[in-house]
Amino acid sequence: KLQEYERLRRKLHNDVQDLKGNIRVFCRARPLLDSESQNIANFKFPKEIPFNRKISLMSTKTNYLGEKKEIFKEYQFDQVFDTFATQKDIFSEVAHIVQSVVDGYNGCIFAYGQTGAGKTYTMTGPTNATPETEGMIPRAVRLIYDIIQDLKTQCWRFTLEGQFIEIYNDNIRDLLVADPSSTNGVKHKTIHDERTGTTRISKATTVDLDCPNTLNQALKTAAHNRAVAATKCNAHSSRSHSVFMIRLRGTNDNSNETRIGSLNLIDLAGSERLSKSESKGDQLQEAKHINSSLSHLKTVIQGIKKDSCHINFRDSSLTWLLKNSLGGNAKVLMLVNISPLESLHYYVAWV
Ligand code: ADP
Ligand code: MG
Repeated sequence: KLQEYERLRRKLHNDVQDLKGNIRVFCRARPLLDSESQNIANFKFPKEIPFNRKISLMSTKTNYLGEKKEIFKEYQFDQVFDTFATQKDIFSEVAHIVQSVVDGYNGCIFAYGQTGAGKTYTMTGPTNATPETEGMIPRAVRLIYDIIQDLKTQCWRFTLEGQFIEIYNDNIRDLLVADPSSTNGVKHKTIHDERTGTTRISKATTVDLDCPNTLNQALKTAAHNRAVAATKCNAHSSRSHSVFMIRLRGTNDNSNETRIGSLNLIDLAGSERLSKSESKGDQLQEAKHINSSLSHLKTVIQGIKKDSCHINFRDSSLTWLLKNSLGGNAKVLMLVNISPLESLHYYVAWV
């Protein structure tokens, strides 16, 4: 009976999903920071933030005379979170994607937006996070952990693993390695197992997430590795994409049923337009890689939306890595982070 109920529940879930489609776009405006209060004259939110799902975003365009012009365009989102939304509010709207990983689905949650708009705050949380301010990664791991503890009473046994990597100039870097200099020159490869529909990265550290302490330790190691990279290049973290990959595999001792699911939590590189003409050397390389990987991501997501049969995932490391978690019945959420300051121009043109 329980199995029949479970089958019906999944069918209903799939039917609802079919009606709504698998890609959602949310918008979150962060509050004004204390350090920004002097700029109060430029303050646009929250008084202008509408409580429906449409929102006007500003960007600047430079014309052929070199004159900057502000343009406003209206965007429709599936959900808009105002500056008062808490980490818990956001998580409660994405929890169903996290839950479905335990049911054997793949999912991707992206944070997209300009540097300083709140992507890292949303995904990881601030440094010295409290239980209220911790981000989506620790919340997601804990929710999965709690569900699989509950399912033990129904004879399910799960393994839960994580990898945390960064894509910088289209190269994959392991964020969980104890000594970051030891990975210099290590070539990581993305491996897709078409039989199970999962992806893993060769030679990157894999941690067992079946105990909450391992997660905390892993997040600390990653933060340390990022800080080391930031000493070499101040803007390092905003110039790279970070991907926290959770893989889950479960077997039922009674029915021998298996479930394999994965969830990727992605903190994208800053979406500000990096001008190739103004950049030189390393910066030029970074600008090229960021612009092209974000535009490949856009092409891939648009292709999935249109059900196109030729989607070129291989065009960038990011889309190749996420191949199995973007297409098919995978659930995708693009969370567009925006800042309340007019002086930070919002480039969200393709959402
Ligand atoms: P990004 O990763 O997009 O560059 P951050 O997440 O680092 O941006 O956010 C920039 C600053 O704003 C940080 O100091 C962060 O703590 C703060 N911040 C971002 N979002 C919020 C929020 N919702 N509430 C409070 N502070 C926030
Ligand atoms: Mg960041």
